[in-house]
Amino acid sequence: MQSQRKRAPESAQIVVIIGTGGTIAGASGSATDNIGYKAGSLSVESLVKAVPALASRALEAEQLAQLDSKDMDHATWAKLARRVEEQLARPEVRGIVITHGTDTLEETAYLLQRVLAPSKPVVLTAAMRPATAIQADGPQNLLDAVSVANAEGVRGVVAVVAGQVWSGLELRKTHSYRLDAFEAGPDAGPLAVVEEGVIRRFRDWPIGEALGASLLPQDAAQWPWVEVLGSHAGADARSIEAWRSAGLQGLVLACTGNGTLSQALEQPVAALKRAGVPVWRTTRCAQGRIVGAVDEPAAALSPWAARVELMLQLLQRR
Ligand code: ASP
Repeated sequence: MQSQRKRAPESAQIVVIIGTGGTIAGASGSATDNIGYKAGSLSVESLVKAVPALASRALEAEQLAQLDSKDMDHATWAKLARRVEEQLARPEVRGIVITHGTDTLEETAYLLQRVLAPSKPVVLTAAMRPATAIQADGPQNLLDAVSVANAEGVRGVVAVVAGQVWSGLELRKTHSYRLDAFEAGPDAGPLAVVEEGVIRRFRDWPIGEALGASLLPQDAAQWPWVEVLGSHAGADARSIEAWRSAGLQGLVLACTGNGTLSQALEQPVAALKRAGVPVWRTTRCAQGRIVGAVDEPAAALSPWAARVELMLQLLQRR
């Protein structure tokens, strides 16, 4: 297990920007088209060059992937976590910025915080409009992210979007279109805001024990198979039965309200548990936690973060 325990020394000046794609690197045929674009089209170098205020900063940029983050995958996560861990170990590196799509930003942020728990800042940033839009939000978000990565005392995995700084463990995308598309759950707010490059902090930076990037298999086939299933009107047991016979290794239930489950799913869930497959309950509500569920490991997590957490637990058991 490797963890980054030392604070950035005085000499640490470089911010490394790692590109993974997303709308922030998206291009559309028309400047007025904010939705009909191709994510992950422009290089991370070109995103940096588009922000003149970054020209005077000590930056390095590298392209790790070029994905629409709806297609983020386990092999890319393993590669990204290893690369960030390597870059954090360089004494001259002050912090990391990762450009990413908004769609699965919360999953990557949760994973990186649990795996790396860095003492230097790892700042994910994204955009809701492509780089070609008349009012693209990416350049300001990138500039803000670099300011956060450079700021004194910042640590842990955070996300910077629309002038707000979110904890990697709490981030949730709650809007499909607005520029301020994120919230923190359950019932939490931003850690800080960025105003003209200055950070105004409200809460503590994320901390924790690093599991180490080597926990994550580089071969996607070696990751445990964990699914998320919603409980809803007309729920049908056949989905769970089909997954069980296909070899499912973990299940996260996105339950109704305060963690309740449709009667139709009770028996197949019990059978799954008897077969040794862990089943965790979360709420499908956009906010709140499962109140009173003291034994539920994921009662305060979104279904998507819970899925990442369950995969990490299964990997640790190997
Ligand atoms: N589909 C895009 C992505 O996640 C959406 C975005 O970045 O806003 O890559």
